[in-house]
Amino acid sequence: MSTAHAAPFVNDAWLTGRAEGYERENPAHPGQVVGAITTADSAVVDDAVEGAVHAWADWRRRPAQERGRVLIRAAELVAARVDELSTLLTLEEGKTLAEARGEVVRTAETLRFHGMQAWQPCGEVFHGGANDEIVRTHRVPIGVVGVITPWNFPLNIPAWKIAPALVHGCTVVWKPASYAALTGAALVRILQEAGLPRGVLQFVPGPGARGQQLVEDPRVVAVTFTGSEAVGRRIAGICAARGAGFQLELGGHNPALVLPDADLDLTVRALVTSVVSGSGQKCTAARRILVHDDVRDAVLDRLTAALSQVKIGDGMDPASTIGPLISAEARDEVRQAVDNARTEGADVLVGAAPADDAHLDGGYYVRPTLLATDKPDLSLACEEVFGPVSVVLGFADVDEGFRLANTTRFGLSAAIFTGSERLARRAADEVDAGMVNINQPTTGSELHVPFGGMKSSSAPGPKEQGQTARDFFTETKAIYATAVR
Ligand code: NAP
Ligand code: MG
Repeated sequence: MSTAHAAPFVNDAWLTGRAEGYERENPAHPGQVVGAITTADSAVVDDAVEGAVHAWADWRRRPAQERGRVLIRAAELVAARVDELSTLLTLEEGKTLAEARGEVVRTAETLRFHGMQAWQPCGEVFHGGANDEIVRTHRVPIGVVGVITPWNFPLNIPAWKIAPALVHGCTVVWKPASYAALTGAALVRILQEAGLPRGVLQFVPGPGARGQQLVEDPRVVAVTFTGSEAVGRRIAGICAARGAGFQLELGGHNPALVLPDADLDLTVRALVTSVVSGSGQKCTAARRILVHDDVRDAVLDRLTAALSQVKIGDGMDPASTIGPLISAEARDEVRQAVDNARTEGADVLVGAAPADDAHLDGGYYVRPTLLATDKPDLSLACEEVFGPVSVVLGFADVDEGFRLANTTRFGLSAAIFTGSERLARRAADEVDAGMVNINQPTTGSELHVPFGGMKSSSAPGPKEQGQTARDFFTETKAIYATAVR
């Protein structure tokens, strides 16, 4: 198998000659090298920021539609390379090929959507208070932004941050996740091929310290980050102290509320998706399944049967419905969290056994696992563990179910399963989550709709995706003009 490569991309050059780097293994076949990554040191990050400052002087003045056309060309290139990109994504990150294809297609659509924003209105016009006066507003780009991304959607999350930054006239320095820098480099190559000018997008693979360097650099006017709560809080502190903008998408602990009048077939299908997709390594995965006592046995019988039939295996095998976790550490952390929950008194309904059959070749698998508890403060019922593991809690009346849906500090997504329009409406009104799904998995699935959380899942401010993405990368200017006669 030929291996992939990644390296820093700074001022239109791939810095492949540097000595420092590491190899990325295939999480389905540890020991099999997917590719080699050359990393940036602090001098490279410094050059990348300086280059982005220079590039901004010109990029911000280009017609927005010229900037948009580059993104639309990149969208076409991504769409033409679905096979190649999705294969690399599966080999490097582990998700199934079907999921990887979905992510690649959505990445093309994301690039196209934001490219097309150059043809949208860019301001408003107001009557002035004085005679003949008009006031108009328009949005201006803020400058060099730092983009720091996780490995779980290594094409689409970067695309939904980088594309609006670029179309609205910012330049970008991007620190990808170390586990998925090969896929990141593939996206950079495509944007380069689509015609991005020198310095407009700088790519600096390397450890978290390189990300922190970006966060601390006074030339970086704002940072958009998706990842863990701990790193996000640190970024917020540094940015707030130096007056830089920050946008955070952090963890979730998403409730799925099942009421007695739910359509159980639909509910179980949606719950399986919410637990297993991306091997549960999704910030929108269902972590707490809250089931009304009247349907508890019926739901759990079907759900455990469905989860025990999920086919674990290499994402490249079309028969697999769930791939490995990202690393041995991630697998061990999930297993430890399940063991701790058992020690705390939770019952295993399905899963929990190690996934170590010979055909799995030592890959980092975890069986889809459901634990039942009556303690809402069980750590697994409050803290996010990034794997295909969910906790079931029962409730006897609907008010109690709604209360349980809001008991964590997170508020990213939620789902309610009910036939009642009144209760669906109540969920939309009362569940503290950025995305409320009625009779659907716990996702936020549309790229043209704002995406993000409430409470500790995010930071207050403009949401990502959709047209609101613009607001983080621009600021409003008001122009007052009196007609000259
Ligand atoms: P992570 O450890 O926070 O890493 C995210 C990114 O930050 C990576 O590029 C990482 O680099 C970098 N980083 C690490 N330390 C840093 C520092 N001190 N300063 C600046 N950057 C630093 O998260 P992860 O392990 O990749 O992803 C899992 C987490 O992300 C989960 O908690 C999940 O809930 C969350 N997530 C949230 C969303 C959402 O939209 N809300 C989406 C996806 C994931 P390295 O890779 O080199 O460590
Ligand atoms: Mg991490």
